[in-house]
Amino acid sequence: MNGTGTDPAPGTDPGGPDELPVRDELRGKSPYGAPQLDVPVRLNTNENPYPLPEPLVARIAERVADAARSLNRYPDRDAVELRTGLAEYLTRTTGHPVGRAQVWAANGSNEVLQQLLQAFGGPGRTALGFEPSYSMHALIARGTGTGWLSGPRREDFTIDTDAAVRAVTEHRPHVVFVCSPNNPTGTAVDADTVLALYEAAQAARADSGGALVVVDEAYGEFSHGASLLPLIEGRSRLVLSRTMSKAFGAAGLRLGYLAAAPAVVDAVQLVRLPYHLSAVTQATALAALEFTDTLLGYVEQLKAERDRLVAELRAAGCEVTDSDANFVQFGRFTDAHAFWRRLLDEGVLVRDNGVPGWLRVSAGTPAENDAFLDAVRKLMKENAA
Ligand SMILES: *Cc1c(COP(=O)(O)O)cnc(C)c1O
Repeated sequence: MNGTGTDPAPGTDPGGPDELPVRDELRGKSPYGAPQLDVPVRLNTNENPYPLPEPLVARIAERVADAARSLNRYPDRDAVELRTGLAEYLTRTTGHPVGRAQVWAANGSNEVLQQLLQAFGGPGRTALGFEPSYSMHALIARGTGTGWLSGPRREDFTIDTDAAVRAVTEHRPHVVFVCSPNNPTGTAVDADTVLALYEAAQAARADSGGALVVVDEAYGEFSHGASLLPLIEGRSRLVLSRTMSKAFGAAGLRLGYLAAAPAVVDAVQLVRLPYHLSAVTQATALAALEFTDTLLGYVEQLKAERDRLVAELRAAGCEVTDSDANFVQFGRFTDAHAFWRRLLDEGVLVRDNGVPGWLRVSAGTPAENDAFLDAVRKLMKENAA
């Protein structure tokens, strides 16, 4: 309805999706929408602030030119060379051996997660995540017709293992999301918690083949602790999801991947679109993998800046959640959105994820972080005055 009591004639400009015969569960909903504002200091989407190094840019141009010579053909549908490279990267950086058959890649880890829900979720099934967490988990559930269940966290945003296990046992979800390090709060989840959730999820759905547990490790490279990757060993329903968007500084590339039992990789192939990963994407990602050491050097710099942000924000009188990621959650504000606005007036864009009292800032370059910290100190003084 358009509010006037008369429907527009079929075929005339309808004015919005709600005027169209969209699925009921999409009616009145908003798309994912981090503001893309043009301000001097943008620390709102956890991007890597460092542009790719010039030698890598040159190598991308070379590999893409090579790929361009065969663009008349469909790309390697199974992305064999790329998956081999990603398996080697995981093996080398985690010390846990992973083979190509255990790795799958797609256009961003969001697409990986969507494929997982297309294969393991869907109408009549449910997925459970512990909120606040990455909002796309719930949005992808909605998009794939999967029911969404919100599991609990403690006041300090860590997962209370007993409470979490109770939620899984009670709701019997088909898919469980564990985001570690968690976005937007920043803290990593320990292996014991993931194992307890895995056992509970399998027990709860023992009559129907178990449940999939997805560990979203988009920020894994930034963590103080080790990757949870070794947990996939002998656990055929545990999936680890990763991305080149954060640690590799390549959000624009759109390349995410998973590691799991080969049977999980076979399952997502049932739902992936054929040739979903373009030859240009595969060539670019392969070039990036050649520069792993350089890119992980930036990760070390960002970790140091992240730790500095935590310390300086605490010194400025803010509460800060422990961070294993390339961002920091800080508060507590009686009106977080008002503080967000005032930071924006100072030329600094951070993220209001809608967690009451809290905001999130991505670690930027030292100069960007200084500008952010100066603005916070100024506003905190004004608040105190
Ligand atoms: C940024 C982010 C992703 C990455 O999504 P891509 O599609 O790979 O860019 C996935 N999970 C979490 C928790 C994130 O914060």
